[in-house]
Order: sequence, then structure tokens, then C-alpha cells
Amino acid sequence: MGSKRSESSFYQSSGEKKLDSVFLFATGKCNARCAHCFYAVDMDKLRPDLDTEDWKKIARTSKTVQKLWISGGEPTLREDLPEIIEEFYNNNPLKDINLPSNGILGDRIIEWFSRLRTSCPKLNITFGLSLDGFAISHDRQRGVPIFYKAVETLKRVEDTFKDDAHIQTNLATCVTKINLDEIPDFYQWAWGRLGVTSHVCDGARGETREGGIKCVTEEIAQELQDRFAPYYIGYGRRMAARMGGGFVKRYIQKTAYIGLIRSLFAISRSNMTRPTPWGMNCPAGETTLVIDYDGRFRVCEIRDPIGSVKDYGCDTQEIMRSDVMKKEIEMIGHGYTANCWCQHGCWITSALLSNPKMMFRKIQSGYREVKRLAKGMDLKKCADREVLEAIEKKYNLDSAKLKAIGVIT
Ligand code: SF4
Ligand code: SF4
Repeated sequence: MGSKRSESSFYQSSGEKKLDSVFLFATGKCNARCAHCFYAVDMDKLRPDLDTEDWKKIARTSKTVQKLWISGGEPTLREDLPEIIEEFYNNNPLKDINLPSNGILGDRIIEWFSRLRTSCPKLNITFGLSLDGFAISHDRQRGVPIFYKAVETLKRVEDTFKDDAHIQTNLATCVTKINLDEIPDFYQWAWGRLGVTSHVCDGARGETREGGIKCVTEEIAQELQDRFAPYYIGYGRRMAARMGGGFVKRYIQKTAYIGLIRSLFAISRSNMTRPTPWGMNCPAGETTLVIDYDGRFRVCEIRDPIGSVKDYGCDTQEIMRSDVMKKEIEMIGHGYTANCWCQHGCWITSALLSNPKMMFRKIQSGYREVKRLAKGMDLKKCADREVLEAIEKKYNLDSAKLKAIGVIT
């Protein structure tokens, strides 16, 4: 299974305006009940999922898609998802997919990744496990007791694909009042114990299922991100090592990752309480398209649906040149007079990728800032066995279960 990761579209900046990323909401079903879920209201309406043939037609008519950001509901509940991904791969220059999951269906995830590594040999897969903290708060926030199951799934993915540069693992942590106090310990523990190639923390978005749990202010976000700086350097190194290649290539990958993550945060934070222009145009509707599980489409995850793919025969070309799409892009506007700015990392990334000069400048400044913040911090000490064991004791983690999973020896 040994392999070199394909050139990722995430580091290939180009000024070209063509549909590059599809955000595919695979299903409206979920097997968790997360307090912070921003999609709960939509899912509770129980509209039927688009059928396989509709998704395949969307895939065939897309033509230029390089990234699939899969979402849900819980994507692993959609049994034909590998088939849909294969259709995108066979009809587009698809390079990267991001598959998030709550980690409940471990067997299915392993089975799918094994299948996709054969059917789509050049595809880079990022497995995004949602893990919001230690067992008690994770399970409280997720509404189901799944902490150890989720960690087990992550460990199985890592063990099964450890020599495969096409598969990377990312932890996604949603910060709320439920887990805020433990986030610094959790970030340290995850770095020391879980072996993932990246870990992002973000506040809850949109209208959450449980009210009153949002807590991330600009100050809190800044404090957390500054504390995480040394880990970003560590993750940058881990990711570059996993991707393979010579020293220069690894150095560029590492620098790009560290610089980008810091710049994304800075732009995102400046939009937490008020809209602030990003300094570049938002490409929503030009390079990105969001398709909800029931076929409604939007230009981004924040703005409202503007139509249904079914009204356009599931033909992506028709959708992209439709009048509603043109009107929506006009409404968003461009430049400093644009009407719409938000803190959504996926679209800030897409905007940077459409603006090579800006991306280069941001990477440089972000990288310098992270280096300055990380000065004097010793990552090895953060992963010290005794320190990690003390954290496990403090949060009542079950060491027998962690041993059985293989997280501790
Ligand atoms: S946040 Fe994700 S895993 Fe949680 S209920 Fe919503 S869709 Fe399901
Ligand atoms: S700025 Fe944000 S809300 Fe506005 S169009 Fe872009 S992604 Fe959507």
C-alpha cells in the first residue's frame, strides 16, 4: 500500500474561475444528537435524500471539480457514497476529498477507504474525525456515548493506512461552553496520543440544536490559537513527513500548512462579531457549489438555498450558468464594496487559492507569526508520558479501554 501522496489541490493556487469545489451534503440522516449541530433543524424536516442517479448526473456534468467536501448528516450512513465519489473521480480532475465522521461506523470507513484506494488510486483522502474533548464532555456534546468508539475508529484508520500517504487524519473539535475549560489539555493530549496529521478547533456555528452553548469570543479564539502555535509547527512537520518527497518539498508543504492555518484564523477572527472584508473576493458560486442532501443548492454554507438541482436536470453546468446563480453572485458583490463577509474557513481557503499573490503573502506572514509565538515551547515535553498520564487521570479516562484500542501501551 506504500505510496506518495498526489499533488494536492489545496496547495495549487490559480487565478482561474471555474467550479473547483463541491460541498456534498450526502444525507440528512444522523446517528448522533449533537448539542452544537447547526444542521439539526434542516435534518429534522426529514426531506428525502437525493438518489444515486441524481448524484451521478451531478458528478458527470461537473467536469472541473478538484475537491469534494463531504458533509451531512453523518456521511457514512449513505451506503452508496463510494459509488458517487467514484463517479466524480472518473469524470473530473478530482484530487482531494474530505470525509468527516463521528466515527461510529468504523468497519464501513475502513471498507470504503480500502475500496477507494483501488478504484481512485490518485485520490487524496482526509478523514476528519469529530472529537470534541475527553469522554464525558465529548459524549455530552454529541448526545451519544461514542468517545471510545470514535477513538478506536481513528486508531484503526491510522493503523490500516499508516504507510499510505494518500490518507491523512484530521481531528475537528467544536468548542462550546460544554468543553471550553478542557480544550488546552485536550489539544495537548490529542497531539501526544492520537498521531493525527492535523487538529482544528472552531466555535459552534449557526443555529445550534441546544441553545446557549456558544461561547467563543474574539478574545477566547485568539488565546486558544496563540496557545496552539507550537502544535501547528508539529502538525506541519507530521503532515509533510506523511506526504513524502524531498527536503525542499517537505519544507514548502510544512510552511504552507502553518502559514495558511494562521492566516485563515486571522481572517476568520476579524469576522466573528462584524463583517470585515477579507482583502480578496469571496469565490462563492464561482468556484464553489453547495448541494444539500435533498438537492437544494447554495453558493456557500451560510447563504440560503437558491434552487433545486432537480429543476436543472441535475446538470451542474446548467446550474452554474443559471440566472439565479448570476443574481446571487451579483448580490454578494466583489471588492471592498461587497455585501457579504463571514468567517467560514472553507471559503476563505477557496478565496486564497483563487488569489496566488495574496496566498503567498499570507503564508509568509502567518508562518512568521506562528514561529514567534512558538519560541521557547518544547513540543517533546508536551508529549511527555507522565504529563499525558496525569491528563488521563484528571479527566477520568479509562486506561484499560485506551490500552485495548492501542492508544496507550
Ligand atoms: S453535528 Fe454532525 S454528527 Fe452531530 S448531529 Fe449534526 S450532523 Fe450529526
Ligand atoms: S462571504 Fe461567507 S457568507 Fe458571504 S458568500 Fe462568501 S462564504 Fe458565503
